Amino acid sequence: MAAAPHIAILPTPGMGHLIPLTHFAQKLHHRHRISTTFIIPTNGPLSTAQNTFLSALPPAIDYLPLPPISFDDMPKDVKIETLISLTITRSLSSIREAVKSLHETKNLSAMVFDLFATDGFEIAREFNIPCYIFYPSNATVLSLFLHLPKLDETVSSEYRDVKEKLQIPGSIPIYGRDLLDPVQDRNNDAYKWVLHHAKRYTLADGIMVNSFKELEPIAIEFLEKEEEGKPTVYPIGPLIQMGSSKDEELPVSSSLNWLKNQPISSVLYVSFGSGGTLSHKQIIELALGLEMSEQRFLWVLRCPNDQSSSATYFKIKDSSDPLAYYLPEGFLERTTGRGLVVPLWAPQAQILAHESTGAFLTHCGWNSILESVVNGVPLIAWPLYAEQRTNAVMLHEHVKVALRPKVGEDGLVGRVEIANVVKSLMEGEEGKGIRNRMRVLKDSAAKVLGEDGSSTRTLDELANKWKST
Ligand code: UDP
Repeated sequence: MAAAPHIAILPTPGMGHLIPLTHFAQKLHHRHRISTTFIIPTNGPLSTAQNTFLSALPPAIDYLPLPPISFDDMPKDVKIETLISLTITRSLSSIREAVKSLHETKNLSAMVFDLFATDGFEIAREFNIPCYIFYPSNATVLSLFLHLPKLDETVSSEYRDVKEKLQIPGSIPIYGRDLLDPVQDRNNDAYKWVLHHAKRYTLADGIMVNSFKELEPIAIEFLEKEEEGKPTVYPIGPLIQMGSSKDEELPVSSSLNWLKNQPISSVLYVSFGSGGTLSHKQIIELALGLEMSEQRFLWVLRCPNDQSSSATYFKIKDSSDPLAYYLPEGFLERTTGRGLVVPLWAPQAQILAHESTGAFLTHCGWNSILESVVNGVPLIAWPLYAEQRTNAVMLHEHVKVALRPKVGEDGLVGRVEIANVVKSLMEGEEGKGIRNRMRVLKDSAAKVLGEDGSSTRTLDELANKWKST
């Protein structure tokens, strides 16, 4: 009997890229019995979060942390894209050893690379293993990425200084200032790395993208069109974190307990992803805006990003809830019963699936958006970094499933603007249209993931290819 197919995945450090890759690996195993080894380049011991997460994966998903490389020579202001890329290039010899030994024992059918791990391609090629990229963001941003080498040749200024919207094949027309963060400064190494990877995308045998046609028709149609020099693109989304059977054994969190006592579709969930933070002034405006909106809310609050940690430490020592210090005086008392503020982290996948949740004020991280789409929850788009501004433009102006509050001249979104946008989404006419469009998208998402849906068929096509190699 032929051995069950096995693939290797090369993620880059950090949970943000690792989590969607494990969803992909789990789905491959669940549907096709394809098992996986994650070869994990590191710059130190795995974090507690990584260890807990990886050790909870099913036995069909193995992992192999590589010897850490050093960043001692890096300047303080080095950008994340540079660090991520260097983690790969500085680990190449240990990646090669790991691939060689895995291939000898398990005969790898394919290697899947993180979007910034393309420097590992040559190793896969050396052993005749097909190379695929897993693109954890959407098809619009992938189109921008594929077009970047051309953009780099044709635009001489910073992209943000171009007066007109950029016309990029497969993408919505977009202002340069709304492109992803690392392309905002073309002299920075981070830009050079992103461009380097973008140029190498054509070397891949295929790119999996976490999206589906009904959500991004123009981008996906463009990407699926065969063209010389364009790798085959496989839309396999929405792949999201689902509640697992283990969740039932966990104590129900305070937020879910609170949510279950709220009326159906009445609560605005407010969260800025795994790492998004606001300034202290912006937190005050958001709090007062939520209060003025008179709507129910569940807000995941983090420390402001403009307070020095020692200053904060001394000020918050006396408070029973350290984060309460950052909220306006009396805010928690005045909103008791109607609002809940949760420090740092909440079970988002379960919150968005809860019937009491009626809308989501989000930083527009792609996983958050997909989790919202799958549950039909309409959005307020409040982008912060990475490719989130592009996502916000797409959701607000094109897919029309989000409202977007305006930023004032002082760089802040003011309380009145926030209250108006929240009210409009939760109970206004504009909100109704957005809610309806989101319901249609929810149905489409369920359909593409169904037995005969396009994303399921695309994944099957890919898996069958790997099974036959
Ligand atoms: N998340 C969560 N609880 C939180 C904040 C985030 O479970 O309090 C999860 C969320 O469900 C999503 C991921 O973390 O799966 C965030 O990914 P996203 O792409 O939205 O944003 P990023 O954190 O990468 O900016």
